[in-house]
Amino acid sequence: MIALTLDRIAEITQSRIYGSAQSSEQVTGPVVVDSREAAPGGLFVALGGERVDGHDFADAAVAAGATAVLGSQPVTAPQLLVDGGDAEVVAALGRLARAVVRELSGTDIIGVTGSSGKTTTKDLLAQVLERLGPTIAPAGSYNNEIGHPLTVLRADEDTRFVALEVAARGIGHIAHLCSIAPPRIGAVLNVGTAHMGEFGSREAIARAKGELVEALPDSGAGGVAVLNADDDAVAAMASRTRARVVTFGLAQDAAVRATGVRLDAVGRAHFTLEMAGRSVPVRLALVGAHQVHNALAVAAVAAECGMGIEDIAEALGAAGPVSRWRMEVTELADGVTVVNDAYNANPESMAAALETLRTIGEQRRCHAVLGHMAELGDGGRAEHERIGRLAATNGVATLLAVGEEAAPIADGANGVPAWRGKSLTVSDAAEAAAALRERMRPKDVVLVKGSRVAGLEKVAEQLIAME
Ligand code: ATP
Ligand code: MG
Repeated sequence: MIALTLDRIAEITQSRIYGSAQSSEQVTGPVVVDSREAAPGGLFVALGGERVDGHDFADAAVAAGATAVLGSQPVTAPQLLVDGGDAEVVAALGRLARAVVRELSGTDIIGVTGSSGKTTTKDLLAQVLERLGPTIAPAGSYNNEIGHPLTVLRADEDTRFVALEVAARGIGHIAHLCSIAPPRIGAVLNVGTAHMGEFGSREAIARAKGELVEALPDSGAGGVAVLNADDDAVAAMASRTRARVVTFGLAQDAAVRATGVRLDAVGRAHFTLEMAGRSVPVRLALVGAHQVHNALAVAAVAAECGMGIEDIAEALGAAGPVSRWRMEVTELADGVTVVNDAYNANPESMAAALETLRTIGEQRRCHAVLGHMAELGDGGRAEHERIGRLAATNGVATLLAVGEEAAPIADGANGVPAWRGKSLTVSDAAEAAAALRERMRPKDVVLVKGSRVAGLEKVAEQLIAME
């Protein structure tokens, strides 16, 4: 973080210097909400959690070296006191981030949104941009009104890029996040049906995600909207932005394009990257057909940041998985490949994973262990059945649905005449791993995928442990 006095922070955050705090003392970062991460010169933000109250850890944070505590309850430690409760503390944190961003003239903020692939793309982008200069990206899915400011507050004068995952919980949410950390470049991956239960319709989801491109500066000020040409709802966002539009995808008219896409025997994509009249081969280290679009979005952003096409291709090929349980590949001793994609699931990411299996299946025998997809709202049962049918027609050798809520997946598959009775519903991870072990042969591929609440990573872990 850039150094600021408590006085200045009080002014920015609209808080009061309280107790033993000295107005001339400096905060140099880190800004943290977990007292265990407090360090010399830092600021500890005390929030009331569900079970614990951050204010109880104020002394511990200061003992670890934090200069002061930002909170809403008086504590004995040096403090910036906010009137109100947690909501006001979070708002104060946002104001601090906004003020710090304003002072960082050499830092570009890049926002990535979409229904699926935000974390994957943000991680890939950070690895590529790191080659151009110091890049900050949050770990995992740190993407809300607390994670956002904490991430940008890690930036200082040396930071060249901040890569942010921007998620929408409702209309107006992304607009708010963009007011805290205004992006110069915004990439929209896709508009799917994830969180349909909350939003009600795909149009509403598109409206919410499009707030990212509405927040971009105009093209004269360097604003760039990176849009998926293959997703009609994303492509339509071109009319909602003042920024210059750069499209990516397989479509012939996409500015950043992949041709000749093929997957190797573990599902790694190879393709030709075409942009600005040039083309180079790319071999991704990441697994899954859907990674092509994620990689194209990254290529488009990297090019806007000044990277040449050869360097982009090289950097894309060298980038590995960062956040766990997303198409995470483990090779077992008997040549079996376990693909653990148990981080989450929605109809689009399920379809993408099954498409990957279909392609791998031309070369190897594949099995799918699928859990239920949460947060789908009313259409849930039909969506599960559709995924089951897709698995059955995509040529998997075994389909296991784990848990009662996933049973409609097995029903859907069993409704496909040539498949009838071949898919099973098992009750838990242990049963799934045991059933698979019986059916698996050396060199087979197993995909494990379901919503976070289904906890299917345990199936992958048990398969690996059974070796
Ligand atoms: P969340 O909203 O939970 O933060 P996210 O958008 O960050 O999710 P990731 O965590 O990157 O998404 O990926 C979740 C899963 O979505 C992956 O495991 C993969 O199966 C799938 N996925 C990733 N990229 C795409 C894509 N471009 N299209 C479809 N599915 C994708
Ligand atoms: Mg995420």
